[in-house]
Amino acid sequence: MAHEVTLIPGDGTGPELIEATRRVLEATGIEFQWDEQPAGEDVYAEEGTPFPDRTLDSIKRTTVGIKGPTTTPVGSGFRSVNVLLRKELDLYSCIRPCKAYEGVRTRYPETDIVIVRENTEDLYAGIEFEEGTDEVAKLRDFLASLGARVREDAGISIKPISRFGSERIVESAFRYARDNGSGKVTAVHKANIMKFSDGLFLEVAREVAERHPEIEFEDRIVDNLCNQLVSRPDEYDVIVLPNLYGDIVSDLGAGMIGGLGLAPGANIGTAAAMFEATHGSAPKYKGQNKVNPTALMLSGVLMLRHLGERTAGDRLERAIAGVIRKGEKVTYDLKPTRDDPTAVGTSQFADAVIEEMNQ
Ligand code: NAD
Repeated sequence: MAHEVTLIPGDGTGPELIEATRRVLEATGIEFQWDEQPAGEDVYAEEGTPFPDRTLDSIKRTTVGIKGPTTTPVGSGFRSVNVLLRKELDLYSCIRPCKAYEGVRTRYPETDIVIVRENTEDLYAGIEFEEGTDEVAKLRDFLASLGARVREDAGISIKPISRFGSERIVESAFRYARDNGSGKVTAVHKANIMKFSDGLFLEVAREVAERHPEIEFEDRIVDNLCNQLVSRPDEYDVIVLPNLYGDIVSDLGAGMIGGLGLAPGANIGTAAAMFEATHGSAPKYKGQNKVNPTALMLSGVLMLRHLGERTAGDRLERAIAGVIRKGEKVTYDLKPTRDDPTAVGTSQFADAVIEEMNQ
């Protein structure tokens, strides 16, 4: 039976990337019934909303979506589609594999890690109070009554980390490790300083780890993790982090594997899952058939595995890796110089992946 999936082209280079990805997914032989729905700048211009109800309804119905990037214009009333999606669907777990494929220029060729980032809590919860406001004055008085002093000219951001949020993200990391044959989960924190937020995260992580004795567990303080990731990346496997550290370490991971064009992602919740590249809409290349579709294609690999189509996912990943290893029919960003005349376009990269899969 065909898998029904919501397909969101997005804007900027999104539609080209989605089209290339749709073609390679179909070339695996797995059948899809695509429900194409709009999101982003283009639909905003037409309908006054970047995220129409019909798009959300479709994802709620199909429970699986794959999405091209969407632009978030700075300084408009336009809210980020990704933030809306995460909130509406409670997509609490952001999974970002960072694997260095042979043929990519990187100083960290042995990198093969998976970052599992909590998506709903921490300093990203949006609980913030602006310097000089009545709210800050009230909060300062309240904190003073508890014996905590904050300077008068401070702005305040609150960092909530709950037992509930920590438990489900660490469980999600262990589930990923079990389903993908990973041997170790590392929980990352700064519990030596933030004893009651990161400390709680660590305490819960240890409890969850006890339920999974077949998978090794360890913890690292976030600064030490960053140091070790660039000196001994091979020692890490699945890494689970609260929201802010997860955001930062994800970009570190993307840098270690050779750039944003190669970093896939999945946002997973209890009722739905959305697959998309880590990078943005690269608007300056819109319509030029130029950018690298690898990150979105690898997000498609994650989607195939999520749908239970592991063999097809592995086959597609091998084909993408094969094209990159050969280094001939690859986009400009994977060539030795960015103006290399032998670079191919987005669509020709997809042709090469399909050819490789059929060999
Ligand atoms: P970006 O990721 O679009 O681009 C950063 C740099 O990476 C650019 O030089 C770009 O050309 C390059 N790049 C990105 N993807 C590439 C690819 N597939 N192949 C080759 N090169 C690639 O980041 P930005 O410029 O900061 O953001 C542009 C817009 O995208 C903003 O409006 C931002 O809000 C949005 N954004 C969306 C998402 C999403 O939809 N998930 C994520 C991040 C940013």
